Amino acid sequence: MKTILTKANFNLVEKVLKDSFGRQIRDLRISVTDRCNFRCFYCLPNGEPPLARKETILTFEEITYISEIFVSLGIEKIRLTGGEPILRKGLVDLVKRLSKLKPNLKDLALTTNGFDFPKHTANLKNAGLDRVTISLDSLKADKFQEITGVDKLNEVLAAIESAKENGFQPIKLNAVIIRDCNDDELIDFAHFARENELSFRFIEFMPLDSGHDWNRERVVSGKEIFRKINEVFPLKLKETTRGNETAWKYGFADGAKGEIGIIAPVTEMFCGQCSRIRLTADGQIRTCLFSTTEHNLRDVVRSGASRNEIIGFIEDVVFKKEPHHNINDAKFIQPDRTMSFIGG
Ligand code: SAM
Repeated sequence: MKTILTKANFNLVEKVLKDSFGRQIRDLRISVTDRCNFRCFYCLPNGEPPLARKETILTFEEITYISEIFVSLGIEKIRLTGGEPILRKGLVDLVKRLSKLKPNLKDLALTTNGFDFPKHTANLKNAGLDRVTISLDSLKADKFQEITGVDKLNEVLAAIESAKENGFQPIKLNAVIIRDCNDDELIDFAHFARENELSFRFIEFMPLDSGHDWNRERVVSGKEIFRKINEVFPLKLKETTRGNETAWKYGFADGAKGEIGIIAPVTEMFCGQCSRIRLTADGQIRTCLFSTTEHNLRDVVRSGASRNEIIGFIEDVVFKKEPHHNINDAKFIQPDRTMSFIGG
């Protein structure tokens, strides 16, 4: 049954979004810009590809309208990402608009490289941002620059401090672990999580780099990450099921605060529980990080389609969600768009 939302029934969730495999979609990742000020070699080694034309980028009004429809269909979590979301002018205003979708929207989060974050931390918090994830691929200044292409380690460390000072909890850090690059820092990262009482999440390197230089030898498996940390800091699995979360979460067996998360999409595919869908900055729905087709929601919205027609379009797209990614198949085709455009 479809119900048109009015102010009177806004708190009613219309129905849930399910794909053809019965997976319920609860998590929407919105890329708010395709621009980025870092040049991580695993993502944008050759600089930015041609940027989307300004008029193709969704406005805040459009993002809010689309998000409200998604929330009415059972989306509980929205993560703003990019590119670098802090580069999108007026981000605080967008957070304010989206936070009006609570309480049906249960979680409003941001993924950022941290650069320039401290200028906005308090305003983002006051606007209703619930959680922040900051990327941190090395604790060594020279390695950090080698990976990201910028000399900004201190700025990122300052961003973590400012997230703490402004009461964000939990604060998650993301590191992509790459063989012969930063895999020698796993123990330092774990130590950092303990000392700072943070959740440090380690992600397997995925074939989403614009240089198409990914190769399997450089993937450090989740199992190896676990083993190396566990040898030094024994870990304790927090929950025996992961639900539809991406990470296995571990605490420290000695009771130290802090958390380790391991995200292993390459070696331990978790597509069977996937509850995610993505919206690119130019309004394309992607049903999988590795989709090779996109669905143009922007043009549907801009064509003057009714709310019910937009809902119908979204339902049809979700129904086509892929059963799983094909990274491990011989016929795997890497998507044209990099993580920076898709929105990680
Ligand atoms: N600019 C923000 C940031 O740096 O966090 C948000 C966008 S970034 C694309 C989101 C996440 O994707 C980051 O944590 C990044 O490390 C991860 N990422 C990018 N390319 C990746 C790849 N090839 N494999 C695994 N993770 C990747």
